[in-house]
Amino acid sequence: MAEHDIAGTPADKRGHIEPGMSSRSVAVIGAGWAGCSAAVELAQAGYKVTLLEAARTLGGRARRVDTDRAQLDNGQHILLGAYSEALRLMKLTGVDREQALLTLPLQMRYPPDTNGMDFVAPALPLPAPLHLLAALLKAKGLTREDKLSLARFSTAARWMGWRLNTDCSVSELLERFDQTERLTRLMWRPLCLAALNTPPERASAQVFLNVLRDSLGAKRRASDMLLPRADLSKLFPEAAAAHVDAHGGSVRCGAKVQAIHSIESRLWQLDISGSAVGGTWSTYFSGVVIATGASQAATLLHDIAAQDTSQLCSQLTAFEPEAITTVYLQYDAGLRLELPFYALQDDPYSHHYGQFVFDRGQLDASQAGLLAVIISASGPAAAQPQELLAEAVAVQLAVDFQRPELGRPAWFKVITEKRATYACTPGLVRPDNATGLPGLVLAGDYTAGDYPATLESAVRSGVAAARLLQRNTVQ
Ligand SMILES: Cc1cc2nc3c(=O)[nH]c(=O)nc-3n(C[C@H](O)[C@H](O)[C@H](O)COP(=O)(O)OP(=O)(O)OC[C@H]3O[C@@H](n4cnc5c(N)ncnc54)[C@H](O)[C@@H]3O)c2cc1C
Repeated sequence: MAEHDIAGTPADKRGHIEPGMSSRSVAVIGAGWAGCSAAVELAQAGYKVTLLEAARTLGGRARRVDTDRAQLDNGQHILLGAYSEALRLMKLTGVDREQALLTLPLQMRYPPDTNGMDFVAPALPLPAPLHLLAALLKAKGLTREDKLSLARFSTAARWMGWRLNTDCSVSELLERFDQTERLTRLMWRPLCLAALNTPPERASAQVFLNVLRDSLGAKRRASDMLLPRADLSKLFPEAAAAHVDAHGGSVRCGAKVQAIHSIESRLWQLDISGSAVGGTWSTYFSGVVIATGASQAATLLHDIAAQDTSQLCSQLTAFEPEAITTVYLQYDAGLRLELPFYALQDDPYSHHYGQFVFDRGQLDASQAGLLAVIISASGPAAAQPQELLAEAVAVQLAVDFQRPELGRPAWFKVITEKRATYACTPGLVRPDNATGLPGLVLAGDYTAGDYPATLESAVRSGVAAARLLQRNTVQ
């Protein structure tokens, strides 16, 4: 990716306005998936885009991480066929879906002999609810009662139009729909943790229903699970940056926006620092997308003197963080699991923390023998010393797969993102893209939308922010 100089002035000359400043010159602060999407959308619409990222790597919470052992992701991610906007922008920026993603039918498969279940949507692209019924008929490890309870849930949710009059917790919803203990433990709980990163007792039933509507309740292709073969920065952010560059914009890593000032109510001055700019510089734009995390957006908005943003700032700082831990375990390159991924039964009381395991070698040949174990809502697990956690996870794999060698990895790497997502709780109020200030909009997985904190919500938010900015940039 080529990098251009940021047109601007050193901070000691603040207030100087660039001659010839174009009203179509916009900045996007933050190159996570939301910022990258906003930048692509604006570049596509003919704006001159400057994408500013504080970190060295593009992608935010879905990025590549260089460790002393290997190049890893900061956490294993799963996309769904229902991620229509993420897939559209990946295509627009030239990402080859077949090469970048392994497509698997919706499934919840536990290692054999662990008293789990084996549920796989059929290969044929059947309309809903037929694909679910076909999967139910074939499912192993579920009793007749479990299957009936799942069919009852699906019928009732469809009949309600996947809408609740009043939001409640996922646990309350499952109780209301009389779901069996086994189905709840083997299917609903892991699905809820994977989708909302919030335990069912605290998770929003309405947001869970939104995700189910577009996966279990939609055509089979929407419910497909898409596993990244490329690293997460390559998967979209780097393609997005190349697209911005090719459309006359510029992309800067190592460029942290320290403050935003309103100039004569028609321009925005950004004070930027970091290795990419050498010192602190001020630059001017007619429009700005703040695509940072919610709390960083609050800090930037708080200092804008032009208008009282205190109400919006309190909304932005009210999100409760939830952690996700990924335990990478490297074995001999010849080690392989039967399937690309399995669900695991977690039970922290027995030190079984892992909820899913991915065989990275089946996704990317250069990662042969590398397993990635996900622990969602990982607060208690992440409090353990890393060695003990990795050891516990390795033992869990050895026991579940009845393969002693899985207990002895050559090396491990534990990556915990403490602020991986926000707790997606019932009735959570999420802010709009608009800030109330002309030419200044918000983008991020936390803005109002149907989905929980996911790549798709980030992308949808970025696209919505870009379209809003196009409507309200001062021309
Ligand atoms: C371990 C893990 C696993 C996950 N699993 C899944 C999954 O399986 N499926 C799924 O769909 N989602 C998953 N998610 C959630 C998904 O990654 C996030 O919802 C999404 O990446 C959020 O994107 P964003 O652009 O809104 O925010 P971010 O990615 O946080 O982007 C914000 C960017 O702004 C930058 N920034 C902040 N302040 C400044 C500043 N002052 N100046 C310049 N730049 C700044 C940050 O460095 C960052 O790059 C997971 C998340 C994690 C952490």
